Amino acid sequence: MLISADWVVPVSGPPIRDGAIRVDASTIADIGPRDELIERHPHVTCTDFPGCIITPGLVNAHTHLSLTVLEGLIPPQEFHEWIGRIPIAVRALNRDDLAVSASLGAIECLMAGTTVVGDIAYGPEAPAAASDKGVAGMFFWEVLGIGGNDLEKQLQQDDFPDSPPKSCAGRARCGLSPHAPYTSGPELLRAARRLTREHNSGFAVHIAESPAEVELIMDGTGALSHLALRLASGFSAPGLTPVRYLHSLDALEGTVAIHCVHVPPSDIRLLANNAQGVVFCPRSNDYLHTGLAPITRLMNAGARIGLGTDSSASNTDLDLLKELRALIDRAPTISSERALRIVTIEGAEVLGLDNSFGSLEEGKQADLAIWHMPGTSDPIRDLVHHGSGDSIEAVMSAGLWRVRSGQPAFPTRNIELAAREATSKAAKALKG
Ligand SMILES: [Zn+2]
Repeated sequence: MLISADWVVPVSGPPIRDGAIRVDASTIADIGPRDELIERHPHVTCTDFPGCIITPGLVNAHTHLSLTVLEGLIPPQEFHEWIGRIPIAVRALNRDDLAVSASLGAIECLMAGTTVVGDIAYGPEAPAAASDKGVAGMFFWEVLGIGGNDLEKQLQQDDFPDSPPKSCAGRARCGLSPHAPYTSGPELLRAARRLTREHNSGFAVHIAESPAEVELIMDGTGALSHLALRLASGFSAPGLTPVRYLHSLDALEGTVAIHCVHVPPSDIRLLANNAQGVVFCPRSNDYLHTGLAPITRLMNAGARIGLGTDSSASNTDLDLLKELRALIDRAPTISSERALRIVTIEGAEVLGLDNSFGSLEEGKQADLAIWHMPGTSDPIRDLVHHGSGDSIEAVMSAGLWRVRSGQPAFPTRNIELAAREATSKAAKALKG
């Protein structure tokens, strides 16, 4: 099949006016100007999208798809208060609810042009639900509240694939995420990092998110100290910044560092040089009053940058282009080209998925987002500054249509109904 539009933006090269892509089964087989592709493949049907721009499916580098049903239940508030509300809501959900929630999250991602996520998973439900809907990604199994020696047993209980390099191939890959320094003690952080190195799988940590986390790691005091006492087994304040603390545990190198709001100038280079990438979530940081990340400083220091919406429990939606505008507001010198890279190829690099995703190149997965933006002469600028889920016309992943005419290409009613029930359960638990 050939798919063409007014503009094709491969990200790996300049935008192509009147461009086309040849899709062969699940992969991209050719890309170039429409006339040339029709000449090269004269017997292949061409589907044209007039007034549209085609980009790679976007990469939302930090989600918690399993928490999508919590949208709107916990209002914006101080981080340390919010973090106490989450387990109350999550405990009300069983595994089926988590699966439904992740399905709903995957649909919301697709409707915003996202086909790849860096997701924090609580078991196999999120990767299964996302794969079923056509959303690929790196799924980081979350661990917290246990000692380093209990890690393998916990992972067995949580159905973590026992041979991740083999069983986590393809479009859903698996990694680990000790939640954060105040819920995962030093031995757990070390053990999880060691295991992911052995398996050559992804590793992510929420780090340097709030002032309370900085205070805890520096002085052992503050609003998160009770949580740390209960959950971060073996923790005692090392008197370091969060980034240096991770480094001291050999858990910074190759790590996907989520949030990184509180990184002093003296830690910028250490973080940029060691982490696999930094994932910013500006709207979630606003929601939880945690502060402004040093975005420009980290970019200037050469850090690889991804962007995430975080979960629906601390954001209004999973629309990555809206999130991108929040990033640009906080780092106005960023170019439109770099901004688009952050939500495509750079995000894929942060997750270690750039071999298959993040740009439109021969051999990569046929993941396309098609945006209705007629009459543009600068597709990247217009998309970055004006695009959103409202402009989505169609989405393809693995060579299959997931969204057509701005609507999901599969029935969603049962998922929505079940999600509403899960939301009521969580709401009741939060009230009780
Ligand atoms: Zn998060």
